[in-house]
Amino acid sequence: MDEKKNVKTIKQMGNSLPVGLLPRPEWKFLPKDNSFKFREWGFEQEQQIAKLKNTEKSIGRFASQVLDMMLLELGGVNWEKLGEQRVLVMNQMFMADMLHLYICLRIESIGHEFALSNLRCTSCGHEHKEFVVDLRDLDVDCLSSDEKPDQKFVYILKKPITYVHKNADGQDVEEKIESFKIGRSKWTTMEEITGEAMSNAAMTKKCILKGAIVGFNDSEGYVDADRMIGSMKKIDFELIDRFISQKNLGATIVVEDDCKNCGKKINKAVNWSYDYFFGASSLPLS
Ligand SMILES: [Zn+2]
Repeated sequence: MDEKKNVKTIKQMGNSLPVGLLPRPEWKFLPKDNSFKFREWGFEQEQQIAKLKNTEKSIGRFASQVLDMMLLELGGVNWEKLGEQRVLVMNQMFMADMLHLYICLRIESIGHEFALSNLRCTSCGHEHKEFVVDLRDLDVDCLSSDEKPDQKFVYILKKPITYVHKNADGQDVEEKIESFKIGRSKWTTMEEITGEAMSNAAMTKKCILKGAIVGFNDSEGYVDADRMIGSMKKIDFELIDRFISQKNLGATIVVEDDCKNCGKKINKAVNWSYDYFFGASSLPLS
């Protein structure tokens, strides 16, 4: 079921989002396109961010606040003029788009060169004191022309589950669940990953699943995600996790370049933490 992909590099995409913005008339957010524009990052912003770091414990919310501070325009809409609604608009943006903004902000503010130190080639063992990649070369899965940003997908369970819940009369009802309806993850999912869940892979996975499941069997709407996820078997929560990340689209989280010694490809997962990603430690020495 591997549909044709629409993969572009960040360089090819320009200032455009991989999934796309949805109009939110209720919040007076009516984007004209999928573009974005940042302000210049100066000392004023640096001071505000330093303050934020002391108070904001959720990495998702921290990233939202940094982006909120730095955006000038989103979808051709004046960001500041949107006022209080900005928080709501961001929460409901697709996760892939928010991560994309985060990467592009890094490129615009401190450059496209991203340095990894002491990286050993897995093929020949050569150790690169400094391994520099160009972030603009990152591959990004973009929405295809025949897809919609808020499209729903069906994941068929390998091992169907029995969901027990109470009906209107308070009696236990058993329902067999054979498939889940999945929507692309929204940024709000990341904001909910706080405290213990940040360092607990199972809890993170649960947050992601909860955020993506929008229905089961033929129904869509209210989902008792907690209890349903609790009944799922390992094969399904592993596969559904992969299914969701494929559907989410967005940038690959792995940087890649050729080994200076043997020429074979070396890749490494990007360290997204603010201090590294936006700090001098990820900048080339010379
Ligand atoms: Zn090598």
